[in-house]
Amino acid sequence: MSNYKLGLDYAIEEDQNDTLSIYKTQFHIPKSPDGNELIYMTGNSLGLQPKQTKAYINQELKDWANLGVEGHTEAKNPWLPYHEFLNKNMAKVVGAKPIEIVVMNTLTANLHFMMVSFYRPTKKRYKILIESDAFPSDKYAVESQLRYHGYDDKEGLILWKPREGQELLNYDDLEDILKKQGEEIALIMIGGVNYYTGQFFDLKRITELGHKYGCMIGFDCAHGAGNVELNLHDSGADFAVWCTYKYLNSGPGSLAGCFVHERHAHNKALNRFTGWWSHNKETRFNMRDEFDQLPGAEGWQLSNPPILSMAAIKASLDMFNEIGIKSLTEKSKKLTGYFEFLLKQLGEDTIRIITPSNPNERGCQLSIQVINADKTLHNKLTEAGVISDWREPDVIRCAPTPLYNSYQDIYYLVEKLKTILN
Ligand SMILES: *Cc1c(COP(=O)(O)O)cnc(C)c1O
Repeated sequence: MSNYKLGLDYAIEEDQNDTLSIYKTQFHIPKSPDGNELIYMTGNSLGLQPKQTKAYINQELKDWANLGVEGHTEAKNPWLPYHEFLNKNMAKVVGAKPIEIVVMNTLTANLHFMMVSFYRPTKKRYKILIESDAFPSDKYAVESQLRYHGYDDKEGLILWKPREGQELLNYDDLEDILKKQGEEIALIMIGGVNYYTGQFFDLKRITELGHKYGCMIGFDCAHGAGNVELNLHDSGADFAVWCTYKYLNSGPGSLAGCFVHERHAHNKALNRFTGWWSHNKETRFNMRDEFDQLPGAEGWQLSNPPILSMAAIKASLDMFNEIGIKSLTEKSKKLTGYFEFLLKQLGEDTIRIITPSNPNERGCQLSIQVINADKTLHNKLTEAGVISDWREPDVIRCAPTPLYNSYQDIYYLVEKLKTILN
């Protein structure tokens, strides 16, 4: 991966050789007022719209118009089992078995529903461990769970922190925490790919370590799903949650994914919140039966889901399935490696990349600390046609996605950054 070259010719050549480059044309790329395509680097925040999404949603609008309630069974894609059309492809994206997957609710809601089942504090074991720079919603969610169970949200929360002067987390430090406090920790809940640093954690390692001390393990994979190979089943994690509007391109506020490991699939003794959609499908509409728990991740559903949002997810997953997460991550590593190579030319007194340099410890995102910068830098980049994300005090997050970003995007982005910094 070290044969990257400087200059526009190289970027053009790489785009020509890239078998996935055609997918860029299958997305709506936002344009500036003068009609030029923007360089879109925020697929980690809101993924772009696949052109085929409209047809998928229109199909459901048409069936609703023509069939009314009959669409539940008679629509081209019947609505009653609609979520089942997503399970197989979603399972492939996150490396799970279909029985371990369901698409439902929104991300933070799923996190809470998972904690109803997998955060079962006792007098002796009630603490929750998260990474110190967890996404705010995750932190607020676990704090509120602690309070809900009657614990102090400061005393009950353990933070896995980076060492002095560092940003990335070290597994030895996690092990130290567990050696000292493992018996007090009920749940370890980590962002699979940290939203700020882009560090992709070794999910299996964390799970094995946590299980050794008797903790439940959950991951928030909002920044991982569709970005890296998560291999959730093999990780052994108890649960995972993620949204579909970031790398999975399913539209603002779209439904979220949820993974529950197969080992819990038939455990009816697990505490959980239920609704009619968690009840046996065969007898759901008898309406008068005693509750009969549906096995697998599906059994955590409460309600009949919004089909229009699911149609957008189906459109996206069909595209992921066509390409395969393996080819996607292969391109992603090369594209982000090229980005890193060009950034390094700017010199260490100008920028510092916080994200791990090992391609197996990151996804597509690079978090770039710009020395002596403030938000005006981000504004100038935006004016120059680059959509990126600014984190105070001095970090730009850029996430070139292999689906719709090109080598030329990266080339022009770094050229613009260079001009602005000079
Ligand atoms: C994007 C993101 C969220 C957002 O939560 P919503 O419930 O979808 O609003 C939460 N956690 C993480 C780690 C995220 O990346």
